[in-house]
Amino acid sequence: MIDGTTRVLGIVGWPLGHTLSPALHNFICARLGAPYRYLPFPVPDPRRLGDAIRGLAAAGVAGVNVTIPYKVAAVSYCDELSSDARAAGAVNTLRLVEGRVLGHDTDVSGFGRPIIERPIIIVERRALILGAGGAARAAAVFLGRAGAAIRIAGRTRARAEALVEQVREQCRGAPPEALDWEDRNAAVREADVIVNATPIGMWPRVNESPLDLGAPLGPGHLVYDVVYNPVRTRLIERAERAGACVVDGLEMLIHQGLDALEGWIGRRIDRDLAADARRALEAELKRSAAASGARR
Ligand code: NAP
Repeated sequence: MIDGTTRVLGIVGWPLGHTLSPALHNFICARLGAPYRYLPFPVPDPRRLGDAIRGLAAAGVAGVNVTIPYKVAAVSYCDELSSDARAAGAVNTLRLVEGRVLGHDTDVSGFGRPIIERPIIIVERRALILGAGGAARAAAVFLGRAGAAIRIAGRTRARAEALVEQVREQCRGAPPEALDWEDRNAAVREADVIVNATPIGMWPRVNESPLDLGAPLGPGHLVYDVVYNPVRTRLIERAERAGACVVDGLEMLIHQGLDALEGWIGRRIDRDLAADARRALEAELKRSAAASGARR
């Protein structure tokens, strides 16, 4: 039931047609009996981003996620930044408190949680991150802080170099390095952890993979694909066949969402709910795939 005490949450970005965040947050809030509703707030014009954030804060909205293409731009509208947001130079979560905008980046903790939950040692391991955008920032901050030696292979070399500089201070292990995109397949041999932080393999181009068929994936690798639509990407399928340990993007999506929601509603959420949320999101992905198939 929506009444005068219902609080509003949401997501700011463009386009928002395929976002799973409303399904995730409304599912969890309903399960918790928390009086919140989560809505999409599409902002097509980047010049209106500041108006949108300030307007939502003024209207008493409790918090919003920020997604493509505004995770970096939204930093400049924040009154305060958490240490993860400062480290990543990006925000994916805003708490709107008495007109103030508190910026946080739960992509960092959401990326890290599936690794922490597995019996995996990251310190002094070598990590290869494919891509140098928003998801790569979160991966680089988490892995660098955890003590991995990170290499970032970017299609645009300058972006990979800029990300290396952004996270250099965070890295407890060997200094981070940028790689040419063309060198990524060979670099797999010298890596323990491989992260796809590009959209390659995402629906509708589901037959694509960020690594060539000949890339030497094997049982010693942890392969983490941040793409969640589809959940089983070509990369995940190939890594599993090669005997690697895999983490899919739905795990990160759920944990970054739960971390954001805990901040907004001010209470801990039992992580046993993550399994139920996963089933709900898988059903939602199936439903939207069937709906887009029917529209074709
Ligand atoms: P982004 O900021 O646009 O960055 C994308 C990166 O991938 C850029 O470095 C881009 O290269 C590179 N790239 C794009 N297409 C490429 C191609 N064909 N070949 C080589 N490199 C390519 O996007 P993002 O926010 O990081 O998102 C990336 C993916 O992560 C998306 O699929 C998104 O849905 C997913 N994601 C998942 C989660 C989660 O919770 N699971 C969270 C965030 C994002 P350039 O630098 O040359 O443009």
